[in-house]
Amino acid sequence: MAGGCIIGTCPVCDDLVFEDEWQMTNDEKIVHEKCLLHAEFNQEETDIIADLQKRLDEKDKQVASLLRIIREIEQGAHPKLFKNQIQRIMKGSGESES
Ligand SMILES: [Zn+2]
Repeated sequence: MAGGCIIGTCPVCDDLVFEDEWQMTNDEKIVHEKCLLHAEFNQEETDIIADLQKRLDEKDKQVASLLRIIREIEQGAHPKLFKNQIQRIMKGSGESES
């Protein structure tokens, strides 16, 4: 059974962590020993989510740029004027800068 002082809340299972059952994850979070493996797996997941979020942000910017162009065309600008701009926007999605 768990004993000693409570030293925190486990980010994996949301239960209290007692001083005789804690472990530190690679990113310095206090978790239960039994949750450690899961926590490190979570870290990988978090990295993947951050990467997806970044790509999603890029797509958001693309959509916003394209919508701006569509609005200008709706207001009478000639679509041909935006050909290069659209190509640049679409290229931006394939190659990430970092
Ligand atoms: Zn836990």
